Formats: sequence, C-alpha cells, structure tokens
Amino acid sequence: MNKNYRAFADLMADGFFELDSDLCYIYSEGVEAYFSTPLSDPHSQSPGQSLLGRNRIEVMESVLGSSQQLAQHNRSLLAHLPVDVIIETAAENGEYRHTCITAKPQFNADSVFTGYIGCTMDVTARVLEAQQIAHQASHDDLTGVVNRREFEARLSKIVDTQCQTSKPHTLCFIDLDKFKVVNDTAGHPAGDQLLRNLTSIMRSFVRGSETLARLGGDEFGILLEADCQQASVVAERIIDAISQHIFTWEGKEFKVGASIGVAAITARSKSVDDVLSQADNACYAAKDSGRNQSFVYGAESITYHQHRRAIAKKDLIKEALQDEQFTLYLQPVLSNTDVCDIKMREVLLRLKCKNGRLLSPAEFMPVATQFELMQSLDSWVVENSMLALQQFEAQGDHCKLSINLSPASLNDDNMLQNIVRIVTESPASSESVCFEFTEAAVMRNLDAVTQFMSYLRAEGVEFALDDFGGGLSSLSYIRDLPIDYIKLDASFFYNIANDKSNQIIVGSVSSMAQQLGIKTVAKSVEDVATRHCITQLGLDYAQGFGVAKPREIIGYIETVALQPLRQLAS
Ligand code: GH3
Ligand code: MG
Repeated sequence: MNKNYRAFADLMADGFFELDSDLCYIYSEGVEAYFSTPLSDPHSQSPGQSLLGRNRIEVMESVLGSSQQLAQHNRSLLAHLPVDVIIETAAENGEYRHTCITAKPQFNADSVFTGYIGCTMDVTARVLEAQQIAHQASHDDLTGVVNRREFEARLSKIVDTQCQTSKPHTLCFIDLDKFKVVNDTAGHPAGDQLLRNLTSIMRSFVRGSETLARLGGDEFGILLEADCQQASVVAERIIDAISQHIFTWEGKEFKVGASIGVAAITARSKSVDDVLSQADNACYAAKDSGRNQSFVYGAESITYHQHRRAIAKKDLIKEALQDEQFTLYLQPVLSNTDVCDIKMREVLLRLKCKNGRLLSPAEFMPVATQFELMQSLDSWVVENSMLALQQFEAQGDHCKLSINLSPASLNDDNMLQNIVRIVTESPASSESVCFEFTEAAVMRNLDAVTQFMSYLRAEGVEFALDDFGGGLSSLSYIRDLPIDYIKLDASFFYNIANDKSNQIIVGSVSSMAQQLGIKTVAKSVEDVATRHCITQLGLDYAQGFGVAKPREIIGYIETVALQPLRQLAS
C-alpha cells in the first residue's frame, strides 16, 4: 500500500479485511477487536492469520450469536450490498466494546461480484458518550429517575399498544402536599434532599418493568402494570409511606403528604395528553377533597372537581398573563442534506409557573381554548416572533421562524385579518415567516384560511402542515392549499430505524411530497439512527431532541423584551 494511503487508512480505521466471492477471508489485519477471546494461539504474533480461509458469516455467528445485528449484516453480505453496522460485543474486562464495520462489495469489469474490502473501527468511546447524552436527556438530574419527556414517550407506547394487549396499565399522578413549607422553612437544598428521599420511597413500590418519573417540581408519575383497583392499593401504600417519613434537617423535623390521581390506560384512551389530564384531574380531586389521599378517575365522579380544576387553570393562565409568565422557546429545524441551508426555528409557547414548572401548550391549551384565550395567546406569539425576527435580522442572523396557529385562531376571521396586519406591518421580512397548523384546524373555515394563505403567500410567507398522517389525513389539503412543508406526525419516527412499516409510510410521503415540490420535516428525531434513517428516506429536515433541544428565546437574542400581555388579564 502507498505509504500515504496507509497513513490515511490508519487514521480512519483499526482493522482491515478482504473477502473473496465465497465471503471467505483472504486478508485480515487488526479486525479482532470484536472477539472477546483471540481466535488463534494467543502467543502467535499475528492472530489475524487464523481468519484466513474462514467464512465471514460463520465467523460473525460465533461473535454475535443469532441477533438482529447479525441478520442485518448477513442480509447485506448475501445480497452483495454495502455493509454498515455497529456491533456490540463483550470485551475481556467484562465491559462492552462497540465496533463499527463497513465493507464495500467489489465487482470486476464484467460486473461480476468478486468479494469485499472492509474495515473496522472501535467506536466504544463515541457510543458511550452518545449513551450518556441520551441518559441525561431522558433522566431527571436531581432524583435520577426518568424525566417527563421519557415518561410521556413510554406512556405513548402503552397508549398505542393498549388495544393489542390484555395486560392492564394505570397511570398514577402524584403531587406532594405542602412541600413548599420545607423549602420556605429549611431552604431549597433541604427541599431537594427530601425530593431524593421520597423518590427512593416511591421507587420501592415500582417493579423493574414499570416506570417512576419526576414530572417536574414536586410532581411524580408512575406507570403501573395493574388495573385501577390494584393501582389504588399501591397509591394508598405510597401515601402511607410518604406521610410516615420523618425528614430531619438541621435539627428540625418535617413531614409531608401526597395526593395521588389514578387513571386507567385503556384501549379507549385517546392520547398521552388525554390520560395525563385524567390522572392530573383525579389528583386535583384528591387535593380538593382534603389532600393526603388518592382518587380514581371516573367520568361521573370527577365532573365537579374537573370544573373547579378548569376554573383554577383559567385563573393560572390569567395570572400568567398578568405577571408575564409566558415565554417563547425556539427549537432548530435542521436540513438533512444542506448544512448551509437557511436556519429554521420553530417558535414554542411555554408558561413558567411560579412553582418552577414549565407548562407546555398541551397543559394549558384546552383550558385556554375553553375560555377563548387562544386567539390572544396566538396574537402575542406572532407579535413577539416578528419582534424577534427584527432582532435576528439586526444581528445578521438570517433565520426563518415557524409559528404555530391554533384551530381557534384559524376559525376566527378577525383573527386571520389581525395576523395579516401584524405580519405585513412589521419591519421584519415576511419571507422569514412560516405558519404551522394541522389539517383538522383548517377544516372548519377552509375558504377563509385559503384566502388568508394566498394573501400571505404573495408576501413571501410559507406554510407547514403539522402532524401530517397522525389523524384522519386528507391528501386533498396538500393538493388544494399552498403548502410548503409537511411535518410528519411524531408517531412515525419512534424506532423508525427498526420499523419497516413506518419506513414504507414515511418513504412514500417523502417521495410524493418531493414530486409535488413540498419539503418534508421529521419531528421527534431522538437519536443518530433515526436521523440517518430519515435522511436515507429522503426527508429534507429533522427536528427533535436528537437534533437540537428547544432553548428560551433570551438565549438567542438578549435584547428581545417580550411585549406584555397585561391587557388580556382583565
Ligand atoms: P400543594 O399542597 O397544593 O401541592 O402545595 P405545595 O406546597 O406542595 O406546592 P406546589 O405543589 O404548588 O408547588 C411545588 C413547589 O415545589 C413549588 C416550588 O417552590 C418547589 N419546587 C419546584 N421544583 C423544585 C426543586 O427542584 N427543588 C426544590 N427544593 N423545590 C422545588
Ligand atoms: Mg405540591
């Protein structure tokens, strides 16, 4: 091998191999990284020699046993396709080693397959780093248990599969009672320690296959493999254990309680938000009935408490408006192919509660819609997004902001006019604006929305159809409306790298959109494997925690002062 090429190769790989057309080794060097025990005499100077003449598939079977990775690897070899896998093997020290194997099929001038050349690379450090990042993204720093995001992902999986299983599942929503007293009397570090202690107590009631999560502040969630009756027995035991725990800090003793809402996850559960809000309402009912008790969600028994809860949430929203607790977060949407492409960021509305929790729209939108506050919130978001765009332009950051519009706004002709006014009167470029909404949101007011879109389209505004394919999708909207982007529903991307059906659906939408000149966006891209898969399927953009986390707008532009919304709180 040319000396320079050899040096380049050594930089990029640890081992090299060559196979003949029968997939037998004719050359190997340094490829034993993935064998826990050397194949040949350990005293031999060149253990790789032992591979010569041996069939690659048999050798890999001895390393991987019958696994999904082996099946994927063998399929590629037998079809004479490029091989690109990362395998996990036990190393001699008992830890795991990750090796990336790439191999390219070779063909002669008559296109006859002659074998493979390939290389191996130890990527253990990279994989461990990725695993650590994934762990941090899915776990709560303070208590070490799963965080809200991971909890919702697990709940989503249960909701999606509940109709195919007879195994009952239940969600317990726990809010500690009078927890603030500990913070106020003994300080925040004491409160933190108590949260850790109570997490250990709750953990002892949860089996390995079940989930305990900290949902935020003093709220916890448990996914139990139990029916409601069994779950309420567990809930009562947890309440007993928590209220018996005497917490001592600097000579002072504290006791707190817990209120628990229990909701069954059944084949009729519509969504994650649906189950969470039932359990949350049941928890509120437990608090409302005197605290330190559990309450099982039942449509009839809950109505009274639910009504009181809605009123309380409405007051929370109004207070948030009054005290300027609403804020904007931005989440980058990155191009899969063109790194120099215009920077797109989705604008996300969040409510910063006084108890430290950050509420997502799913938690306040139903009540905001019920009390007709959505239009005001949307105006505020559009207004402040245009202000932010001005700032971005001033600091030479040319980005596009993608702004969500709620069904309430799209069904309100005055609101549509108001949005047109805000966009056209703003000094910021309207070409930097994209509006997002779902198909369901445009259905009821299609003519006015079409007119609204045509008008703003002429000003350079773009439009994205959100959550595409997640509900009752009608392809006619793609045909009839001036849509620039399709954001496919997040459910398609969960485990897509290993899910053939999702790959087929996403691939079909991607090729259809491509032919229609519409760009496609994958949502909830959580890891490298998903990003790789969606890029191969031809999707244009990726968004999700695996790509970039949402960050508060202040992190992007320090000078943006969000316009107050006080006038709405009256
Ligand atoms: P209630 O009985 O109505 O549930 O009231 P509470 O005192 O338990 O307070 P509430 O549930 O309304 O609010 C939770 C409190 O938890 C408010 C906030 O100060 C505190 N908190 C939130 N996150 C943390 C944290 O990470 N550490 C500590 N020490 N306190 C936190
Ligand atoms: Mg509490």
